[in-house]
Amino acid sequence: MTTTCCTTSHTDSPFVQDFMGNVAARNPHEPEFLQAVHEVVSSLEIVMERRPQYVSGNILSRIVEPERAFQFRVPWVNDSGDVEVNRGYRIEFNSAIGPYKGGLRFHPTVNLSILKFLGFEQVFKNSLTTLPMGGGKGGADFNPKGKSDGEVMRFCQSFMSELFRHIGPDTDVPAGDIGVGGREIGYMFGEYKKLTNTFVGVLTGRGLEWGGSLIRPEATGYGCVYFAADMLATRGETFEGKTCLVSGSGNVAQYTVEKINDLGGKVLTLSDSSGWIFDGDGIDADKLAWVMDLKNNRRGRIGEYTEQFPNAEFHTRDDALDHNPMWAVDADCAFPSATQNEINAVDAANLLGTGVYVVSEGANMPSTADAQNAFVNAGILYGPAKAANAGGVAVSGLEMAQASQRLFWTREEVDAKLRQIMTNIHTQCVNAAKDFGCEGNYVDGANIAGFVKVADAMIAQGVV
Ligand code: NAP
Repeated sequence: MTTTCCTTSHTDSPFVQDFMGNVAARNPHEPEFLQAVHEVVSSLEIVMERRPQYVSGNILSRIVEPERAFQFRVPWVNDSGDVEVNRGYRIEFNSAIGPYKGGLRFHPTVNLSILKFLGFEQVFKNSLTTLPMGGGKGGADFNPKGKSDGEVMRFCQSFMSELFRHIGPDTDVPAGDIGVGGREIGYMFGEYKKLTNTFVGVLTGRGLEWGGSLIRPEATGYGCVYFAADMLATRGETFEGKTCLVSGSGNVAQYTVEKINDLGGKVLTLSDSSGWIFDGDGIDADKLAWVMDLKNNRRGRIGEYTEQFPNAEFHTRDDALDHNPMWAVDADCAFPSATQNEINAVDAANLLGTGVYVVSEGANMPSTADAQNAFVNAGILYGPAKAANAGGVAVSGLEMAQASQRLFWTREEVDAKLRQIMTNIHTQCVNAAKDFGCEGNYVDGANIAGFVKVADAMIAQGVV
């Protein structure tokens, strides 16, 4: 073995090549999963050299294999009385440090590869939070867009009528993700409660009146900005006066904008799958309130923003381009908060070219491998998803703790705990990178710190 730990190298070492060859052979047709595994394994060579117990325990081969994964039929009846069928999944990836924990995604692109990548990432992210949570992920290829409330409810009930037998407050605790917000969690919780005759913390992201935690909706976006603030602090800087690009306009994007505004920054962009808006005056609190109503209540498209705020521009998405022009807008910071692989190598070059020097990932794996290498090589403040967006699952962990003790904390208490957890994650990344010779590399730092805790627990628990 050579002693490269850093993800910056453009060619894989023999160690990474050998390992990835085996993983690729065992998981053909799963490009997103292989991308996520490659990123982690590229950071771990030096860890395997220094800790032979991980090699003799074959930890790497075990950790890339989900403990359990299942797929199920989800039939439901639409408003016209027709029967529709979707495919549901749950990947219970790793329970070495706690019950499986991770969101449910409802989106037409959902497949096994995407959910395995998300579940794998979740294992390390949850470890970084310092809370006792294993990793899992699930969802369905159902598209909630354009569906009535009644259709969404019937879908959620059918989905839960199978999922309920596999989950539980001490076994597997799902949450939201793309396409799954408070409405969907409510319908699924209602069905779970009816089927099991129990009122327990089996889903997080619940409403405040029925077991939810304050700050859970805000947590991923707030946490991502807190992580960026900690990165900026290493250079003696703050958000005051910084211009920021945010993609997406869902849960993560909305609260990212709110916290950037709170800390004195200015947000110039938002997007959805139809295109992106540019508002040079900044998306202030009033405009954000309008976007929240548009997206969370009226379920409209981001292009409507320019009808309400005519100084702004709307740019329709153009799939014929090899890049997204939104990432070429002049700014200091970028917060990709929509979906995986939304920043490719051209976008990364554009971001670096305009002078962006902070990238904090709200979405999961929003940067392709080439884009990620470009950020690391450029030496910017680059917070990878598994560290930067861990605030959501961290507050889900706090929701579980509150539900178990049947006591609820104030907004200020939860926000203070979230703030502290994000600082702890930042510190773990910095220290692990330093300890393993990759100082300043948050990708390696996050992968190593997240991995070591899970690997040690797996060794302690034997070959199971
Ligand atoms: P959300 O509320 O459903 O919002 C998703 C946003 O991204 C929407 O604006 C959506 O636009 C856009 N989007 C989704 N797929 C897209 C695509 N293929 N192309 C372009 N735009 C797309 O979901 P969310 O909870 O904010 O999640 C956003 C990201 O954060 C995901 O990567 C998720 O895994 C990650 N994340 C979420 C949490 C959490 O607590 N929610 C925690 C950690 C990480 P349309 O409406 O047009 O589809």
